[in-house]
Amino acid sequence: MNDKRHPGLTDRFGRVHRDLRISLTDRCSLRCTYCMPADGVPWLARETMLSTDELVRIARVAVEMGIDEIRLTGGEPLLRPDVVDVVDRLAHLSGPLGRPEISLTTNGLRLPSLADALHDAGLTRVNVSLDTLRRDRFHELTRRDKLTETLAGIEAAHASGMKPIKINAVAMRGVNDDEIVDLTRFCVERGYQMRFIEQMPLDAGHTWDRQQMVTGEEILAQLTEHWTLTERGDRGAAPAQVWDIDGGPASVGVIASVTAPFCGTCDRVRLTADGQLRACLFARKESDLRALVRSDATDEDLAAAIAACLQLKQPGHDIDDPGFLQPDRPMSAIGG
Ligand code: SAM
Ligand code: SF4
Repeated sequence: MNDKRHPGLTDRFGRVHRDLRISLTDRCSLRCTYCMPADGVPWLARETMLSTDELVRIARVAVEMGIDEIRLTGGEPLLRPDVVDVVDRLAHLSGPLGRPEISLTTNGLRLPSLADALHDAGLTRVNVSLDTLRRDRFHELTRRDKLTETLAGIEAAHASGMKPIKINAVAMRGVNDDEIVDLTRFCVERGYQMRFIEQMPLDAGHTWDRQQMVTGEEILAQLTEHWTLTERGDRGAAPAQVWDIDGGPASVGVIASVTAPFCGTCDRVRLTADGQLRACLFARKESDLRALVRSDATDEDLAAAIAACLQLKQPGHDIDDPGFLQPDRPMSAIGG
């Protein structure tokens, strides 16, 4: 453990937390079937959403405790009107381990107009979600006809100088599992890094079905028919297991959250757009930091609340346990 970090960032199982994921909004410009319902989304009430000052204050306390990586997510984080200012303010925070690295997960739709400004503000890397290269399929999957815009967004991020560009795809049986090779080739040809994600039970409609899930093993089986893959060594706390393609430098990663959970090395903690701290995507308890920042709580009180939340963290997500309960919030309201 790095002893410059606040002891409260270490949980009961010795996991040291260094990565804070902040959801900037639960609103989204797409309606991906595995994440949101077509309509009738129960949005967070506006007055419950953290202001930028509140959000930056919580992040500052976390960085001063030793968090050194901040990932912005949502919902669609680029829908937050002041997202460039948020990035600028977060990139200027400083803690015992220096300035945090800022990254973002996005559907890419607003990147054509924002990529340069985001990069200038301190956004060094980006993950763009792209589940298919086919326009009709994209429309069906996201319930919006926006493939061209997402592709333009990826190009804009690349042109801005952000590096690496990672492309995320949730693999789904009978939906896009025939594009695993095409999506990987798309990335190899452009110097992007492909990441396939096993579908998790986090959809708003609670329709997840274990049998429908394409496993990491199945994804690898398809890839090895086309390329020679060499597994990279120690992945640390990274969710993705990464393979070099044909000796590198191109690579492909698989995030097998369900079949090969990586909870034992997890270093992530999440702040929702309405100010609730969650020690795990699947947590059933949250710590109300919004109430604290709206009271006369001190920074020490906030640090103590962050430490207390991490003490509640369970050893694993137990998706495979018969007693598993999906969290009440869908992915879009937690922050993926
Ligand atoms: N809107 C942004 C985007 O789509 O990249 C950021 C938020 S989204 C919730 C973050 C990531 O979670 C995306 O890569 C998305 O594909 C993934 N995701 C959403 N629902 C999921 C699920 N049920 N299982 C696995 N991944 C999921
Ligand atoms: Fe929106 Fe991202 Fe969820 Fe798709 S995965 S609906 S883009 S938040």
